[in-house]
Amino acid sequence: MKHMTRKATRHVNQNEGLIFEKSSAGKAAWKLPPLDVPEVDTAKLLGSAERKDLGNMPEVSEIEIIRHFTRLSTWNYAIDLGMYPLGSCTMKYNPRVNEVVSRFEGLANGHPYQPEKISQGALRILKTLSDCLVEITGMDAITLQPAAGAHGELTGLLIVRAYHQAKGNPRKKVLIPDSAHGTNPATAAMVGYSVENLKSNPKGMVDVAALAAQMDEDVAALMLTNPNTLGVFEQEIHKIAEIMHAKGGLLYMDGANMNALVGKVRPGDFGVDVMHLNLHKTFSTPHGGGGPGSGPVAVKQTLEPFLPKPVVITKPDGALAFEYNRPLSVGRVRAFYGNFGMFVRALAYILANGPDGLRQTTEDAVLNANYIRKGLEGIYDLPYSTPTMHEVVFSDKLQQKKGVKTGDIAKRLIDYGFHPYTVSFPLIVHGALMIEPTESESVEEMDLFIEAMKAIAREVEEDPQMVLDAPHSTRVSRLDETTAARKPILRWKPGN
Ligand SMILES: *Cc1c(COP(=O)(O)O)cnc(C)c1O
Repeated sequence: MKHMTRKATRHVNQNEGLIFEKSSAGKAAWKLPPLDVPEVDTAKLLGSAERKDLGNMPEVSEIEIIRHFTRLSTWNYAIDLGMYPLGSCTMKYNPRVNEVVSRFEGLANGHPYQPEKISQGALRILKTLSDCLVEITGMDAITLQPAAGAHGELTGLLIVRAYHQAKGNPRKKVLIPDSAHGTNPATAAMVGYSVENLKSNPKGMVDVAALAAQMDEDVAALMLTNPNTLGVFEQEIHKIAEIMHAKGGLLYMDGANMNALVGKVRPGDFGVDVMHLNLHKTFSTPHGGGGPGSGPVAVKQTLEPFLPKPVVITKPDGALAFEYNRPLSVGRVRAFYGNFGMFVRALAYILANGPDGLRQTTEDAVLNANYIRKGLEGIYDLPYSTPTMHEVVFSDKLQQKKGVKTGDIAKRLIDYGFHPYTVSFPLIVHGALMIEPTESESVEEMDLFIEAMKAIAREVEEDPQMVLDAPHSTRVSRLDETTAARKPILRWKPGN
C-alpha cells in the first residue's frame, strides 16, 4: 500500500462484508427469558401469515453482529470523518444541535393525523421556517412540501404551467443553460415542455444576446441556477429577468447553490419569480444517505394562488391551521406536509446562526472556495477565470497528457483520506474537477486537501500508473460501476 495518509486499515478477509457467511446454526445475539404468561396460539392469531422458520436469516452472536455493523460503518466515508468536497452537493457539517432538537419527543412522535388543536407547536415550526425562508429569499410565499431539489423543480414548473394555463396558454418551451444540473431539463420534460438549450458565453455565464434572440411568447420560463454550476454569479441577472418578463415568461431559479447567497443577496430582489431551495444542502440537514431531502418552493405574489395545498394560515383568533380551499392550487405534491424532521433541523440551524451567522456562513463558504482555487491554480487547469463563489471548477487538461483523468485523480484522493470532489460535472467543462469545501472546513483541513491534490499532481508526473490503479487503501478498488447500476445484486443468495 503506497503513499497513504490518515487512513487506518486493517487486514480484511474477502467475506467480512457478509454477515450470512458468519452464520452458524443455533447461535443468537440474545435469549428471551422463559415465558411467564399463558402461551398464545400464534397459528390461530396469524393464520397463514404465520412464518414457520426464519428462512435464511444468519445466526450470529451479539459481538459478531455488533462488530459486523461497526466495521461496515468504518468502510464508509462521512462528513464526520473529514472533508467532503463534492461540488454542487454542499456537503456541509450538520451541527449536533439540529439533531438534538429534531429528536425532542413531542416533535419526533408527532403524527400528521393529530388534530390541529394539539399540533400548534408543529404548525408554528412550519410557519416560522416558512417566514424565515421567505425573508432569506426575498420572495412572497412558500410551500415546504417537496421532498427534494428535483421534486421542488417539478413543483415549481407545475406552478409555472398552472399560471400560464390560467392566463389562457400553458406555452410550449422552457429555456435551460448548457451548464445546468441534469435534473432541470428532466423536470421540464416531465411537466410536458420541450427544452431549448442556451449556450454559455466565454465567461461561463448566460449569453444575454443569445437569450434575447431565443426568447419568444412560446417560452414559459427560463430555468437558471445562480450562482451557476461553475460557481459563477450571473452578473447580468437583472437583464436576464427583464428579457423574460418583457415577453410574459417567468424566471425560475434553481436555488441549490444558495450557500453562496444567503444573507448577502435575495433572488426575489433580482427578478426571480419562482425558485426551490435544498434544505439538505444550504440549511444543514443530513443528506447523501443521511436522511430524506427537502426542497421548498418559494414564489412571488402572482404565483401564490397556485402553491400546493394545504397551506398554513393564521386564524382570526391567532391559532394556526391548514387551509385546503385553494381552487387554483396545483394540488398536493406529497403526502401530508413534507419531511417534517428536516424542517425542524433547518429551523434549528437558522435560529442558532441568526442573520449575522448566516451571512458569515456565506462569506466563509466563498472564502474557502477561493482559498482552494488559489492553492491549486497552476497545478490544475482553470478553464474559466471568472471570480469563484462557493465552488471552483478545474479541469484535468494538464494530467490528461499523462493519460490520467479526473476520475482517476478522484480515486487517488480517497487514499489521502478525502471524499472525491464531483467528477465530470458540469458538462461544459471537459474533464471537470468540481470542488466545494463549504464553510465547515478549517484552514488546516483545506491545507491537507491542497497538499493531497498537489501530491497527486506530482504522482501523475512521476508514476501515472500508480494513480490509474488507485485507490490502494480501500477494501475494494475499481468497481464495475455500470453493471452495479444496471444489474444490481440486492439480495444475498448462498454461493453468490
Ligand atoms: C443538488 C442539485 C439539484 C437536485 O437536488 P436533489 O435534492 O438532489 O433532487 C438540482 N440542481 C442543482 C444545481 C443541484 O446542485
